[in-house]
Amino acid sequence: MIPLSPSLDRLITEIAKLPGLGRKSAARLALFILRQSEDDARRLADAILDVKQRIHLCSVCANLTEDDLCSVCSDHKRDRGLICVVETPGDVLTLEKTNVYRGLYHVLGGALSPLDGISPQDLRTSELFDRLKDGSVREVILATNPTPEGDVTALFLARELNGRKIAVSRIARGVPIGAELENVDEVTLARALEGRTSV
Ligand SMILES: [Zn+2]
Repeated sequence: MIPLSPSLDRLITEIAKLPGLGRKSAARLALFILRQSEDDARRLADAILDVKQRIHLCSVCANLTEDDLCSVCSDHKRDRGLICVVETPGDVLTLEKTNVYRGLYHVLGGALSPLDGISPQDLRTSELFDRLKDGSVREVILATNPTPEGDVTALFLARELNGRKIAVSRIARGVPIGAELENVDEVTLARALEGRTSV
């Protein structure tokens, strides 16, 4: 076998670090990039650097944004009395695709996992409680993943929110147990959101 040129080998190695790609798929993508024009290749490289430099977390909800506030937090037509708590910014995108939810979000940045040493302090939980202090929020919807970690997180938050004058609900079990929100189809997720139950 002819050894790969070092630059091609380097590109394949970097692409193979992306989730879901083995070295074989990475080699196919690297060869595709090699066949593209230099302009196309530069646009790809620039786009990758651009998201890294421009995108950061919304100062209120920790959703992804290029501004101080994300597009949801800065939209005055959204219902400010509702906060949907999710694990990742990807979950916000998934829920937005259902087009049924008109409230705000709060991205925790993960889920509780005692085995992995992830405690409430490692998530944006205190930021959530701070948002509830002014009394403008009437309901918190717990939309963490229906995995053991997501359930533990929802239980923890439900306990912490108990005793406040805020309704707390968990998205309905239309979402398959153990599934991640981003893999659930939009109709199922929309139903799960509408059929949420108080906890
Ligand atoms: Zn936001």
